[in-house]
This record gives sequence, structure tokens and C-alpha cells, in this order.
Amino acid sequence: MISLEEARRHVLDRVARLGSTLVPLADAYGRVLADPVIATEQVPPFANTAMDGFAVRSLDTADAPVTLEVVATIAAGDPFEGVIGPGQAARIMTGAPMPTGADAVVMVERTRFDADRLTVDVEIAVRPGNHVRFAGEDVQVGDELFAPGTVLTAGHLGVLASVGVAAVSILRCPRVGVVSTGDELVDAQRPLAPGEIRDANRHTLLALVAAAGWEPVDLGIAADDPAVLRTVFAEAVDRCDVILSSGGVSMGAFDYVKVVLDEIGDMRWMQIAIKPAKPFAFGMIGDTPVFGLPGNPVSSMVSFELLARTAIEWMAGSDRTELPLLWARSEDSLGHGSDGKTHLLRVEGQVDDHGIWHVRRAGGQGSHQLTAMARANALAFSPDGQMIEPGDEVQILPLR
Ligand code: AMP
Ligand code: MG
Repeated sequence: MISLEEARRHVLDRVARLGSTLVPLADAYGRVLADPVIATEQVPPFANTAMDGFAVRSLDTADAPVTLEVVATIAAGDPFEGVIGPGQAARIMTGAPMPTGADAVVMVERTRFDADRLTVDVEIAVRPGNHVRFAGEDVQVGDELFAPGTVLTAGHLGVLASVGVAAVSILRCPRVGVVSTGDELVDAQRPLAPGEIRDANRHTLLALVAAAGWEPVDLGIAADDPAVLRTVFAEAVDRCDVILSSGGVSMGAFDYVKVVLDEIGDMRWMQIAIKPAKPFAFGMIGDTPVFGLPGNPVSSMVSFELLARTAIEWMAGSDRTELPLLWARSEDSLGHGSDGKTHLLRVEGQVDDHGIWHVRRAGGQGSHQLTAMARANALAFSPDGQMIEPGDEVQILPLR
């Protein structure tokens, strides 16, 4: 058996970043920027008013209160071509361009407008620049806005839109193929014949892939038959950036997954010192990474969380190589006697008012007992031979 760390390192050392692609801004949310974005426009594009009010020459207000002649009304989007001369002002609405000659704005609340006489009484003296938003105050032409690796949030998209960027170069979204292998597997369309079971893994794994923001590719159920498996994996390599296969990686006599993957790929078959999810395979068919996850439904999900997720995130642009573990307080006995393995227990956790996780067993802990996985929101790491009693600290991996 090898350690979980060794298996993770093996995988992370072999996966590569995906290429980049240009997408419209509408498709860029949550994606990872591939190239730096350099601003070719300034923001704001022109000096404009931050308030509804009157654009004035600030010197004219020095002896406020004063009465000024109103020579224009300027709306947002409708620049005034004239000049504001001494003793003059313009009514101006938020976002409208500052007229030539004016250097400050008096907010409407500190003025009284006489619409008949076209004059305004200004109550206060203002300094140059008062309530003016200057051109380029937020972004200047040539600024490097965001560096490669930035995960694009709503705020990033807003900035990109405001400098006129219509499309950005992002790392490609991984297309992740999911195949379940085994002669006993059937979907929900027909009653079970003797010896058959329902295929759970394809549904859990496709959902985990979709929830991670990747593109799931359903490769179906493949029988334990070398010809079928060859066809399925060949198709998978064409359509996918990563393949998640479940079943057939342990010691069974009909595990043709092993035979076929060894024939077409460069695989390493591992026994990891964890329970569940001890058997695991990883390799490359050409340059497509293949994860051989164990068949037991809990094991395949645990294996995905511990061995596949970080690696696929890396392919998609993340820099994180460690599992995002937290410390929690156990409310149950979670330890086990020595068997050479770290146990991953399905636990239900709650965060208390101090931000501390409290976890308890989420149900039956067999690797075929998927209901506990459904209830669980974390995996607890129970180190080999260590007793974890109620009140003790335990490391957990929150599940997403
Ligand atoms: P294997 O890894 O192929 O030896 O399978 C281990 C156990 O997991 C067996 O009991 C299989 O029937 C079961 N199993 C394999 N694949 C699936 C699946 N897709 N859904 C549910 N159970 C599975
Ligand atoms: Mg099998």
C-alpha cells in the first residue's frame, strides 16, 4: 500500500493545464483567465458629474450665496457643446459630461432653480473638482487589469464590460467523461434480473462534475468485455479531456478494465492506505488522463474527492495542490484499531456560532452504503490506530 499523499502527488505530477479559448463575456463567469487583460479604454471615459445639480466655475461660488445664469441643461449621454462662462452654470444630471469651463458641481439640494428667469441660487462655495468624477480615475489605458489565473467573478466581468472587452481568453472548461463498468449494472429503465444492480456511480460522478462547473460527458455503462471497453475508451479519448471510469480496478477475475487500459494506456495500479477507496488507478491514454475509480459507490465518490478533484481543478487553472482540510470537533467515537489505513468516515457536520465544525457519523459506514454519503457533508480523517473520542479534534474534508 502507498500513502494517500504519494498517490495524490503521482496524479498531480502528471496532469497538465488545459489550453485556452476565447469566449464572449456572457460565458466567462467563474472561469479562469488565461491571458492578462490590458485596458484599451479609460474609465470613466470622460469627466462627469457624480450628482444631480449644477455645473459651475468654482471661483464663482467663493462668495456664496450667489445667483448664476443657467445656460444649459445637460443630461447623461448628451454632451453640451458650449462653454460655461463667468457667472454662468448648467443644470446637470448624474453621469452627464462636465461642460467646458465648469470645474465643479453643486448638488441640487444646495441650490434653488428659477425656471422662469433661468437662474440658480447657489447656497454654498465649492472647491474645484467637487462631485466631479475624472476621466481615467478608475482605469487608465494600458493598465493590466487582471492577471492570468484570475477566477472571473461578477466584479471582474463588470470591469471588463466597462472597458469595452467583448470576449476574454479563458482556460478551457474540462470535458469530463464518466463511464461505469460492470456486467451487473443496469439503469432504471427495466426491472433487475437476478444478480443485477442499478448503476449509481455514473449519476454521482456526473453530478460531481457538473457541480464543479465542468462539462460532464456521459459515456454510459460498459460491460466487462474487452471489445466494448476498447470502443468506449477510444470514444472517450476523442470526446473528453479527462476520463473517470468506475469499477474493475481491484482484484476481480473479470476486471477487463485493467487489461484494456494496460493495452491502450500507460497506467499505474495502486493500493492506497485508505478505507474506503483502497484500489485506484491513474494513467494516460495518449495525453488524456484516466482515473480508475473503485466500483463501490461510496468508494468511487471518496476516490473522486481525494484523488481526482484537485487534479482536474489544476487542469482547469487552479494552483491549489492540497486538500482543503479543516479541524472539527467530533461528537462520536470515530477512531479505529490499527489496520494500516486512514479511514474516511462519512460525517454530518454543523458549524457553531464560533465557526467550529461539530461532526457525527452520518450513518452506516460500509463502502456500499451510499445513504450515509447522501446525508454526509464532510469526510472525517480517522488516522490508523488512533482513538478519536467525543470532544476530540478530527480533520475533515467538507464535501461540496
Ligand atoms: P468492482 O470495483 O468492479 O469490483 O466493483 C465493486 C463493487 O461495486 C461491486 O459490488 C459492484 O457491483 C459495485 N459497483 C461497481 N460499479 C458500480 C456502479 N456503477 N454502481 C453501483 N455499484 C457498483
Ligand atoms: Mg466490476
